[in-house]
Amino acid sequence: MPRPILATIHTQALRHNLSRMRECAPDARVWAVVKANAYGHGIERAFDGLRGADGFALLDLQEAERVRELGWRGPILLLEGVFEARDLELCSRLQLWHTVHCDEQIAMLATHKTHQPHRIFLKLNSGMNRLGFAPARYRAAWARLNALPQVDEITLMTHFSDADGQAGIAAQLDVFKRVTADLPGERTLANSAATLRHAGEPLDDSADGLRVAADWIRPGIAVYGSSPDFPSHDIAHWRLQPTMTLSARLIATQDLQTGDCVGYGSSFRAPQPMRIGVVACGYADGYPRLCPTGTPVLVNGVRTHTVGRVSMDMITVDLEPLAAAGMPTGIGSEVTLWGRSASGAVLPIDEVAAAAGTVGYELMCALAPRVPVELAD
Ligand SMILES: *Cc1c(COP(=O)(O)O)cnc(C)c1O
Repeated sequence: MPRPILATIHTQALRHNLSRMRECAPDARVWAVVKANAYGHGIERAFDGLRGADGFALLDLQEAERVRELGWRGPILLLEGVFEARDLELCSRLQLWHTVHCDEQIAMLATHKTHQPHRIFLKLNSGMNRLGFAPARYRAAWARLNALPQVDEITLMTHFSDADGQAGIAAQLDVFKRVTADLPGERTLANSAATLRHAGEPLDDSADGLRVAADWIRPGIAVYGSSPDFPSHDIAHWRLQPTMTLSARLIATQDLQTGDCVGYGSSFRAPQPMRIGVVACGYADGYPRLCPTGTPVLVNGVRTHTVGRVSMDMITVDLEPLAAAGMPTGIGSEVTLWGRSASGAVLPIDEVAAAAGTVGYELMCALAPRVPVELAD
């Protein structure tokens, strides 16, 4: 028997979350962001659940090739654009739309030979200071691109740094409005957080004009069932469903006496006699080593918590809440590290991530290659 650990990708949940994004932005088209191998889900596995999107957005040219190999003939967007001139050949061949965020990318395009002009997403640095043209230089970049025979339509694009938090999007929105006011073309601004929290806010000063959702939204994390602004709001609040379950089984139990210690460093000491379970999951599976005693976990769908340090191949969990509920546990009992248990109980990945001082994004992307993955409805 293989080691009892499994990741499950939930196709219906991907579909559901995508439709939630559409509800938030009913007039926009939706890029399903599938960078980082669909946030660790696997592009091939996520594809069926996400094929209702209007396009796929990603970074890696190889990932773009994989999406085309799946038979997708619709739009694909390279969110960071090309990295070197010859990448443009692949863009022409696979009809990839690409971001342009710097002068060097314009220069590459200007010498590129292509029969079909390219669809460009011209990125404005509205304050995040990663990619994009500074406000003072954006319009010149637009004019330069617009004059190139290699360029078809230009979509105006920016990315928010604080759509999930207190600072919000107002300052960046002002910059975007001011710089792009009279430029023609479609617009795209919103990631998951901006879509959930700000999609309906106006993008121009006319009452019936464009909204922040604009022409295209670009949700990633919400599609994968993690709340972009946890703990302010959880996935139940946003009506999102987990798309990845990490589950394992108990491979041992121990009955501890008061004062007995658990695991490396003996960091947990039993305050009274108690039963613990040993789970076939550790940091080499992608479960964060930083999760302290008390990190939530489900055993047979019942909420309990970890005790002691996370090891490479094992974690230990308190079985007392199950004993108290009169539920038998033993070797083989189902453990849900995050996602959905067989009983339907949900442990949001965000709660585990928060315990480790990180975000759901990092946990799903860090699912280890040694974990077998199964595709479910
Ligand atoms: C990753 C990314 C997104 C998606 O962000 P989420 O927070 O996962 O919704 C959108 N736009 C750009 C440019 C990105 O790089």
